[in-house]
Amino acid sequence: AHLDRIAAVDDRLNAFLHVDAEGALATAAEVDARRADGAELPALAGVPIAVKDLINTTGQPTTAGSKMLEGWIPPYDATVVGRLRAAGLPILGKTNLDEFAMGSSNEHSAYGPARNPWDTSRIPGGSSGGSAAAVAGYEAPLALGTDTGGSIRQPGAMTGIVGVKPTYGGVSRYGVIAMASSLDQVGPMARTVLDAALLHEVVAGHDPMDSTSIERPVPPVVEAARRGDVAGLRVGVIRELGGEGFQPGVQAAFDRAVEQLSQAGAEIVEVSCPSFAHGIAAYYLVMPSEVSSNLARFDAMRYGLRTVPHEGASAEQVMAASRDAGFGDEVKRRIILGTYALSSGYYDAYYGSAQKVRTLIARDFESAFEQVDVLVSPTTPTTAWKLGEKSDDPLSMYLEDIATIPANLAGVPGLSLPVGLADDSGLPVGVQFLAPAMADDRLYNAA
Ligand code: GLN
Repeated sequence: AHLDRIAAVDDRLNAFLHVDAEGALATAAEVDARRADGAELPALAGVPIAVKDLINTTGQPTTAGSKMLEGWIPPYDATVVGRLRAAGLPILGKTNLDEFAMGSSNEHSAYGPARNPWDTSRIPGGSSGGSAAAVAGYEAPLALGTDTGGSIRQPGAMTGIVGVKPTYGGVSRYGVIAMASSLDQVGPMARTVLDAALLHEVVAGHDPMDSTSIERPVPPVVEAARRGDVAGLRVGVIRELGGEGFQPGVQAAFDRAVEQLSQAGAEIVEVSCPSFAHGIAAYYLVMPSEVSSNLARFDAMRYGLRTVPHEGASAEQVMAASRDAGFGDEVKRRIILGTYALSSGYYDAYYGSAQKVRTLIARDFESAFEQVDVLVSPTTPTTAWKLGEKSDDPLSMYLEDIATIPANLAGVPGLSLPVGLADDSGLPVGVQFLAPAMADDRLYNAA
């Protein structure tokens, strides 16, 4: 049914960069056979899933949304993909994204933007826009995304689905093409909180192949999603993430959601996180610095695109020509920014200062979580915008990340929950829940 749906709507949504009908049907048949044998199967066995094309899959290309990796088939599965296979989830295909996960609209994909199923003249958010469009457009019941500065939560909010960035180190990054290694996390996208929790449980947990993976039991997210009891829960509304700069329809939907939490017995307080105001500035130094380092591996020598500018060209000339042809403008912009921020003479002023701000943001979270169990804010300042609307203005696109970035800088988990449509635009609004590290279960309970 999902493959039929993809065939019917994906020429409009462009959510998939690759569809593996044969592979998905083979897994489904295997699951059916095991079930017929009376085998006890994992909860999600046979439930199909779409995987962001930043995550390595054997037997299917992984492009990272870039010309640099066009046609590349990874020689190994990411740990999370191995876990999907072990749990019997048929993998429908690979979803569209901003090139190397850099963007908030999917317009930076080298393969054309994915579109928002609510209104195909609008962006689905990004960078996991293909995963969000696939789930919201009923092409897949579940998807995996990655979130470095909001790339699961923001497209989740823009398309009216649930998106979760787990605690940093909670889900393995092994086999996930790195954008900014100290910020990247893989997480679930789904149409209900319980669906997201079931998927979270499949992919989370310690992995010796990822040195930043946390060696602790997975928080009881499924149990928490089923419980859904907020009586007596202390909920902090983040003062700095609301009001000015937030679309009135978004703010109103958020206020209604907070009112609902209160009626369900939660205790609502206002909490101040003064350093969050500097989150974007710090992120847009730390992230490009790590990008410039991580993307140095695309040197046309080991793998990926190779452009030989002329006969007898030197290795350096081949490298330069290949990187020029293979990377899009946004990726180049960030590599240049990061290289500059890390260069001697500027390192302390930029990268060093940004790291200090990062610590201040983590401290804001620590003191907030002394007062409350979870924090809430709108996931995004606006609802989905029109394709092309912000294309000439990278700064205005970066500002969209104001509410999602602090969680990545501090490593804490975040969940975006759809809370209805904005009165002014008629488009979906997301509310973001935040919790302390390794308390991901609190998000699922509250949501
Ligand atoms: N929109 C943010 C950026 O452009 C976040 C990206 C992400 O989380 N991968 O960097």
